[in-house]
Formats: sequence, C-alpha cells, structure tokens
Amino acid sequence: MPSFALIRDLIGPPTPTDQVGPTAPITQAGPAAATDAASPAAPADPGETLETLRELVAVGEVLVLTGAGISTASGIPDYRDTEGRLRHARPMMFDRFRDDPEDRRRYWARSHLGWQRIAAARPNRGHLAVTNLQRAGLLRGVVTQNVDGLHTAAGTHGVIDLHGRLDTVVCLGCGDRRPRLEVALRLDVVNPGFRDLVDRSGDRPDGDVVLTDDQVADFEVVACRRCGGVLKPDVVFFGEHVPRERFRRSLALLERSRSLLVLGSSLMVGSGYRFVTAARRRGVAVAIVSQGVTRGDGSAQVRSFGDVADVLEHLTAQLRGARPHQPSSREVVGLTNTGR
Ligand SMILES: [Zn+2]
Repeated sequence: MPSFALIRDLIGPPTPTDQVGPTAPITQAGPAAATDAASPAAPADPGETLETLRELVAVGEVLVLTGAGISTASGIPDYRDTEGRLRHARPMMFDRFRDDPEDRRRYWARSHLGWQRIAAARPNRGHLAVTNLQRAGLLRGVVTQNVDGLHTAAGTHGVIDLHGRLDTVVCLGCGDRRPRLEVALRLDVVNPGFRDLVDRSGDRPDGDVVLTDDQVADFEVVACRRCGGVLKPDVVFFGEHVPRERFRRSLALLERSRSLLVLGSSLMVGSGYRFVTAARRRGVAVAIVSQGVTRGDGSAQVRSFGDVADVLEHLTAQLRGARPHQPSSREVVGLTNTGR
C-alpha cells in the first residue's frame, strides 16, 4: 500500500504557532461545558443523543467541520487512534521541507506513491450525507481539515479546505498553482519505474511504505516550470499557518451559524479546536460526532460516539423533507441559546 505518511506528516498536534488563545467565559453552558478536559462526556443514551442532534440540525444554519474520521471509510486511514494520539511521529516540518533538498526528496518520493491512493479514493456515505444536508438547505457551510477533496467530489459546494488540497501543487517561488496530476506525470517521466516500487516494497501493518535510502536517493524532484522554484503540495505543513484569509472566511461562517457540527475530528490540531472555542464565545451550540475522544468534548452540548456515516444517514433519513425554519428560542431544548 502506498504511504499516508504525507498526511500524518502534514496535520498533527498543535504546533507552537498553531495554539489557541485564551477562551472567553461561558455565559450559557450545557452540563458538560464548564470544563474542556480531554476526557469524553459520558456517552448519553444513543436514542436521546440522536434526537437532540436531529433537533439541532433541523433548525438549519449549521456549520459542519470535518476531520479524518469522515474519510476512513474511503480507505484513507486516520492518523490518530481513538485516544487522539498520533499513530506516528516524525512530522515533516515546513522549514525542513523548504531548506533541505534531501528531506524534500524523501518527502516527494513517499508522497508520490501515497498520492496514488488518495487520487483513487472515492467519497463515502458520510460525504454524501453532508451533501444531502446541504441540498436540504440546512447548512451554513462546510469546513474540512482533510486534504483529500472528497467533500467536493461528493457534490458539496463551497467547501473551505482549511489545510489545503493534495490535488494541487504550489510553487514556493512564484506562487503558481498546478494540478497535482500534471506534476505526478512529470515525476513519472523523470523517475521511470519508480511507481512499481509500491508493489515490491510490501505493506507494513500501518500502511506505510518502506523505501530504502537508495530508492530515495535516486528519486528526482521536479521544479516549477515558470521560475524553477521549489514545488510543494498545496497543503498546510507543520510549522505553517492556515492562510489568514481562509481562516477569516471560516470564522465568518461560524458567526452566522446557529450550531457547529464536528464530524470525525479529534480537534487536536489548534486550527480545528479554535472553531470550538470561537463557537463557545459566540454562544453557538457545539455537537460532536466522533468515535474517539476529542479535545472539544468538554464544550459539546451534543456528543455522539457513533460511526459518522451511520449517524449522518440516520439524520438525513429523519430530516428528509425538513426545511430550515425560524425556531422559537425554546425550540431547541437543552441547547445553548444561540441568541439568533
Ligand atoms: Zn514558480
């Protein structure tokens, strides 16, 4: 199997440049919202949880934030276990990628193999359910921490790819952006036979590819055709910030939302967790559907530990024909009053 090292290299625990600031006090909190401990809220009765979730989504104006957990069913493994810990270490830092030609060569060699599986991945039931919620007019927007492009492939419009997209390559010199496929084909031309290594290298249990030093040393990296600059997959590396404008657009959506629905994210990355703290500050209700513990569990008014696709399909079935409407302030019982 090709490597997913590139994804775990890119998106991991909060880096010093990606930490959240102090959070504002809570004005109206659910029973679990007083703390933000790493331990999960006690699993509620599933039926009750789903009903509360349905009520929350039925009022509409939901901002969806998704993480790796929604793409695992598409064959893209999560890089964290259910305790929120990274399965691997050794992330590729941005400055190492930019400054060290050998690190860059190693990265591109593994990423070139890993890309094949990303490119072959297809949206799953979870992605399609998000599209259905959008078509039902219930969503304010969709923000994803994933770099696989599967929400857009599933027909969801206006997705904000917080951490970028692996199917695009950017030049660090002139800023030119090119399709990943174009760069992959150029890499194939200058590295004949390299892709066959996937079949010969054998699988490790974690799906990583073992490349020998010789195999990496022989790999040739290609440069920008316009300026000869360094090419990088257009994703946010460790040590990089999410582009300010992208983050601003995402938070602007949150401002206009009644609720934040987190799907399959451990929220261990600061940029994801900031949505929860921002929601809390603004009195926007937080619902989390994720099988493992998340950093936002203490802030969630609704917490489901169910399978993301199962929960979403249940929701869309319940909401079929539902149209967003203006609820009375008491309609969403037990949820933080959004004040809208
Ligand atoms: Zn360039």
